[in-house]
Amino acid sequence: MGSKAIRTCISCGSEKYKNELLRFVSVDNEVVFDLKQKLDGRGAYLCFNKECFNKATKKNLLSKHLKIKTDENITFVKLVKQVRDTYKRYLYTLMRVNITSKNIIEGVYNVKDSLIHEKAFLCLFPSDISNHSKGKLVNLITRKKVPFYFLEDKKSVAMNIHRPIRGAYAVVNKQLALVMIDILEKIKELKKWI
Ligand SMILES: [Zn+2]
Repeated sequence: MGSKAIRTCISCGSEKYKNELLRFVSVDNEVVFDLKQKLDGRGAYLCFNKECFNKATKKNLLSKHLKIKTDENITFVKLVKQVRDTYKRYLYTLMRVNITSKNIIEGVYNVKDSLIHEKAFLCLFPSDISNHSKGKLVNLITRKKVPFYFLEDKKSVAMNIHRPIRGAYAVVNKQLALVMIDILEKIKELKKWI
C-alpha cells in the first residue's frame, strides 16, 4: 500500500501510481471525488485528463465501478465542477491553516517585503487587486521570477479563508508552494474543460 500502490484508470486502462490518479468513491449512492484518497470503501480511479473524464461519464463507468444504482448518472460538467470545487475548497483550507502557522503571509506590504528578501515561493492575488498594489508588486515578482496566480475577488477569498480582506498573499514555505501550484494548475486546467 502507500503512495507506490498501482491503480488502473477505469476509462483508458492505464496503470499508474495511485497518487497520480484521481480517486472517486460512492457516498450515499452518489459519486464523490476523494481528493486525499482516504475515504472508506471501494474506489474508482481516473486519469487527470479530459478524455478519461469524458468516457467515464458518457459510459457511466463511475456508477458501474462503484456499484451505484441511479437513474441520474453524473454528467461530464457536473463531475468536472465537483472536482474543481473540491480542489478550490482544499486550496482555501491550505491558505487558512498556513496563514495561522505563518507559512503564508498576507497583505500587500508584507508580501512586498517577502519578495524583497527572497522569502516568497509563490504569490496569490485576488482578481480585483488594485492597480496601485499591482504596480507595487508586479515588477518585483517578474524580477525575482516568483510564480503567481489570481484567485477570486478579495471579498470571496477573505470569506473562504475566514480572514480580513487582503490584497496579496505570499507562500514562504517551498514544499507548500509546490503543493499549491499543483492544485492551482489543476483548477486552471479544469476551467478549460467546461
Ligand atoms: Zn485514463
